[in-house]
Amino acid sequence: MLPGGRLACVVKRAVILLGPPGAGKGTQAKKLEAKYGLPQISTGDILREEARKGSELGKKAQAIMDRGELVSDQIMMDIIRERVALPDCARGFILDGFPRTVRQAEMLDRMLNGSVRLQAIHLLLDEETLVRRLSGRRQCARCARLYNVYASPSPSDGRCQACGGTLVQRSDDREDVVRTRLEVHRRQTEPVIQYYQSRSHLKHVDGDGDADEIFRRIAAVVEAV
Ligand code: AMP
Repeated sequence: MLPGGRLACVVKRAVILLGPPGAGKGTQAKKLEAKYGLPQISTGDILREEARKGSELGKKAQAIMDRGELVSDQIMMDIIRERVALPDCARGFILDGFPRTVRQAEMLDRMLNGSVRLQAIHLLLDEETLVRRLSGRRQCARCARLYNVYASPSPSDGRCQACGGTLVQRSDDREDVVRTRLEVHRRQTEPVIQYYQSRSHLKHVDGDGDADEIFRRIAAVVEAV
């Protein structure tokens, strides 16, 4: 690695964070972005932003997200194609929540056409921990800071400790929707893990524990190539 967290690599690279909902992909993607200067591309965030703006795509996506199901592969691919063409992706990018089906992984391969060094990192965590993390997750509506009602200190008054904003639960973090999301992950996204495994692009990382410790494990994998 070069000083200042830059990767000693002139090849464009894509770091793909895989793992079930609640495994910490978003948190770790933000840390990777801060350390290596590669942008985080969170397809869930892009869809939620579309929903917030009230676009046609956003309205359609919100209904699907509220059921815990997946938006169509073609729509997701169009979103990714447009996003990776932006100038901030010139050195590479971090994919958080994409690909989620084997078809998306195949379409991504075709789009990149061997021009990018792919590294898939699979965050491992047991199911009951995932359910607690997701159903306990609350986010400040004002500054987007994340909390968990099962963690300490928990936000007992429903207010953000940083800015006093209201803490809200994502509509798809209700326990029944969380169970559907985990089932969808098992059926549709676990085969993506096999897909990268069979192409030798995959490394498994223990996703349990302190976020900084997990990040050290991920950074060691990223810097090994
Ligand atoms: P996330 O924030 O990554 O948990 O994503 C929230 C929701 O957005 C998912 O449950 C899906 O409904 C939708 N979504 C995000 N990424 C994808 C994707 N790659 N393919 C299909 N649906 C997606």
